Amino acid sequence: MPVDSSQCEQRSIVVIGAGIVGAAVAEQLQHRGHKVTLIDRDSPGRGCSYGNAGHFATDVVLPLANMKTLMSVPKLLMNPLGPLSIRWGYLPKILPWLMRFGIAALPANVEKSCRHLRALNGRSIESYDRLLERTGLSELMTKRGALTVYERPESAHKNQSTVDLLRGFGVEIEALSAEQLRALEPALGDGVAGGLYFPRTAHTVNPYRLVAALTRKFKLAGGEVLCGEVVGLGRTDASVNIRLASGQEIGSQRVILATGAWSKTLAAQLGYRVPLDTERGYHLMLPAPGCELNRPLVSFERSFVMTPMEEGLRLAGTVELGGLQAKPNYERADILYDHARALLPGIRNDGAERWMGFRPSLPDSLPVLGAAHDDPRISFAFGHQHLGLTQAAITAELLADQMEGKATEVDLSPFSIKRFQ
Ligand SMILES: Cc1cc2nc3c(=O)[nH]c(=O)nc-3n(C[C@H](O)[C@H](O)[C@H](O)COP(=O)(O)OP(=O)(O)OC[C@H]3O[C@@H](n4cnc5c(N)ncnc54)[C@H](O)[C@@H]3O)c2cc1C
Repeated sequence: MPVDSSQCEQRSIVVIGAGIVGAAVAEQLQHRGHKVTLIDRDSPGRGCSYGNAGHFATDVVLPLANMKTLMSVPKLLMNPLGPLSIRWGYLPKILPWLMRFGIAALPANVEKSCRHLRALNGRSIESYDRLLERTGLSELMTKRGALTVYERPESAHKNQSTVDLLRGFGVEIEALSAEQLRALEPALGDGVAGGLYFPRTAHTVNPYRLVAALTRKFKLAGGEVLCGEVVGLGRTDASVNIRLASGQEIGSQRVILATGAWSKTLAAQLGYRVPLDTERGYHLMLPAPGCELNRPLVSFERSFVMTPMEEGLRLAGTVELGGLQAKPNYERADILYDHARALLPGIRNDGAERWMGFRPSLPDSLPVLGAAHDDPRISFAFGHQHLGLTQAAITAELLADQMEGKATEVDLSPFSIKRFQ
């Protein structure tokens, strides 16, 4: 829907979308002395950033689009409550995405994506250190590493090629015996055969509070937070123009699109095609879990994660391909409890809360980052798939550097929207 600039109120920089990515970008620009407006249709942090597993998963540099995932798809799809499922009615819509996913999974493409993901993830914790120290929110990040556990003795062997690949990209990994795992996490039962320790990862005790607090700090420092749904985007020579559902129109010299899984339509209004879809994920939050973990714990065989948080133990994961409209299937959240019980015999399910969120995912598992190739007034920061929490702070720094005409520490060209034009 074109927006006519003559009616518009003017703003200097507008960030659309107040998830962890948009909030971090807005704060970073504000910190650098820019006048920033952050717009969301909801309270900040109520999108996908609300209910994630809270894991700064710097070790995850192998893109989901890889041969192992592809080979396991037929078996995974046999189980509707398994780690991967598809709403069959959605298949025709997501088919082009799946075809691109298949191409991205070819070994030469995987190697490139690993390198690009590593470039972001390797800088993730340091960029959060800067962000959280500056905003006085360091208590929201706990650095105790993370674990992957194997239940079957043969799993270590099965996973070895991935471990070697990750080590090749500089990820620190220590192999642990079952006894060593239980020494770190006494709540683990006898069903554990061994595992891995990732010392250079961290977790947040509350991903929602992180976004809410960041936005509050942004506001206190003079940033403007507007509540409204963006329904129209357009551009003229004079400005990039935004129309809200209320009818309010805003013109700006710089617009950053950080609307997560909802970015496809908005990007299209500006003339950019992007094969964005969503991987729906679920969590089960146990406020009184009856046992304690000290750090995120990933189950290799069951493909889910358990993270200790200030409001209890969060069980999270699963991928459901079903688009933005279908109702949640909360059985996918409930099944996580059965998985957790197999690992933590003392666990209890009193007053659990279920949640579903929309991961914003491109088929090549890379986000869209940086200025549009043909219009420096428009920047993108969406599509962080399983790693939006991990990559938000570094995304913000890189985008701000680029916007200010500085050299970026990471080459942003592989992340450009140009790759889909
Ligand atoms: C189960 C699960 C577990 C996960 N675990 C992890 C993890 O451990 N570590 C990790 O790094 N990542 C994890 N993720 C992924 C991570 O949560 C996402 O990548 C991240 O939240 C994306 O952030 P975002 O800011 O891009 O999107 P969102 O948080 O979805 O924010 C987008 C915002 O845009 C707003 N918006 C959309 N359209 C409009 C519009 N038209 N007008 C105005 N506002 C609009 C929305 O209201 C929303 O607030 C997980 C995801 C799931 C589902």
